[in-house]
Formats: sequence, C-alpha cells, structure tokens
Amino acid sequence: MKKLMAANWKMYKTWGEAEATAGELVGLVADALPADREVLVFPPFTALKAVGDVFGPAAGFSVGGQDFYTEEEGAFTGEISPNMLKDAGASFGLTGHSERRHVLGEDDALVGRKTAYGLSQGLKVVLCIGELIEERRAGRVQEVLERQLRAGLADVPADMDPERLSVAYEPVWAIGTGEVAGPAEIVEAHAFTRKILVSIFGEKANEMRILYGGSVKPGNCAEIIALDNVDGVLVGGASLQGESFSRIVLA
Ligand code: PEP
Repeated sequence: MKKLMAANWKMYKTWGEAEATAGELVGLVADALPADREVLVFPPFTALKAVGDVFGPAAGFSVGGQDFYTEEEGAFTGEISPNMLKDAGASFGLTGHSERRHVLGEDDALVGRKTAYGLSQGLKVVLCIGELIEERRAGRVQEVLERQLRAGLADVPADMDPERLSVAYEPVWAIGTGEVAGPAEIVEAHAFTRKILVSIFGEKANEMRILYGGSVKPGNCAEIIALDNVDGVLVGGASLQGESFSRIVLA
C-alpha cells in the first residue's frame, strides 16, 4: 500500500500562488519520490485546474476537491459537484474535515451522504474523523470515532474498491494548534479505526489507508509515518510552502 502524503491548502492561495507552489513541489519532489509514496494536494476550487496542469506529467501526484455536494447539478448556489471537480482535474474529494463539521456546521449524516455520493461518482474519498478536546478529556474518543465512521460510511457499498477510500484521523485539538497527538494516542486511534473499518467492510479494510492529521511538520513526520496503521498524513499549515511540504513528503 502506498503512503498518501496529502496537503490541505484550505482557503489559502490565489490561482497564481497555487500554481507557483505546485511547481516548486514538483521540482523538489518528483525525481526523489519513493515508489511507495503518493502526493495529493487539495487546493481551493479556483486553483484546481492550475495545480492539476502543473502535476499533469509528474507520476504519483494528484489533486482533490476540499468539499463537494451530493447532486450532479441543479439550483444549489455556491455548491460544486464531483463531476465538476473531475472536470477540473481532481481525482479525490475530502469529506468531514473538522472545519466543515465544526465551523460550517456539517453533521454526520451529511458527511455520510457526501462520502457515498463522491465514491459513486468516481472520486476517491478521504473521510476525516476526530474528537474535540472535551470529548477526549471525557474518555469518549472511541465513541466519537465509531459514530463518525459508521455514519460517514453508512451508504458506502460493501463491495467498494478499498483503495478508493481513505480515512484521516485528525484530533480537532491538534489541527492548526501546533499540538501533535502523541505516538500512543495515534496508534490507539488508528488501531481502533482499523477495527471499525474491518467490522464494516471485512478483511479488505486492511487495504484502506488511514492517515494522521494534526500539526504534522517536517520535524515530526518521519516518526509519525512509521507508526502502526499510519498509511499517510494530511497536512494543513506546513503544506503551504513547497519547501516544507516537500520535506514532509520525503520524510
Ligand atoms: C488539516 O487541515 O487537516 C490539518 C491537519 O491542519 P494542520 O496540519 O495545520 O494542523
């Protein structure tokens, strides 16, 4: 299984800035990318095509949409469909990111509908899950992860190609805070996530990638990526500079 090294650029970068960072990244990484690693960038929608065009000829580089709606087209002002993402060069879509859950108010059911719809439309999907600090302090981590996984995957067909679905464990208290989950916390959450995935999809869930996200930096990535059941990383802040993300990708 290839490790998925993913960048979430959130609401940062104009078209030109995104194109420049993508070019820098390809220049720093393309020739050195190990065969067992894959690079994925989620730029803002307006820069998808520009980043995809830069990545075009480079093997092992993909782009994805940070969000999408559950219809092909229609009167849904401000929304975007999986087909539109694919048309702009995306092969991946992100669902359930903590900022969509906790800032934009998406609930488990909507995240589940998006995940199933994106997969049905041919996107590969990275479903994000993760607990709030209050939930961790209350000893409710497993309860929250299980609820988010079962609701997030409720309508995904059991015969789905496992390589098309990844889960990102991102403890909300570690996102953008500089505070990283410790190795034991990551290993425990990933093992639990794997157990729930196996209970839903059977043994083939061992082929699904589980990423860690939350203040991953060039200096901590090598240790994190070597942990059991860590099949990649999802990086926000430290992915915005090509130089810093290149060191994460190659860590
Ligand atoms: C994220 O946006 O998914 C993320 C993990 O952000 P950061 O790396 O900045 O914590």
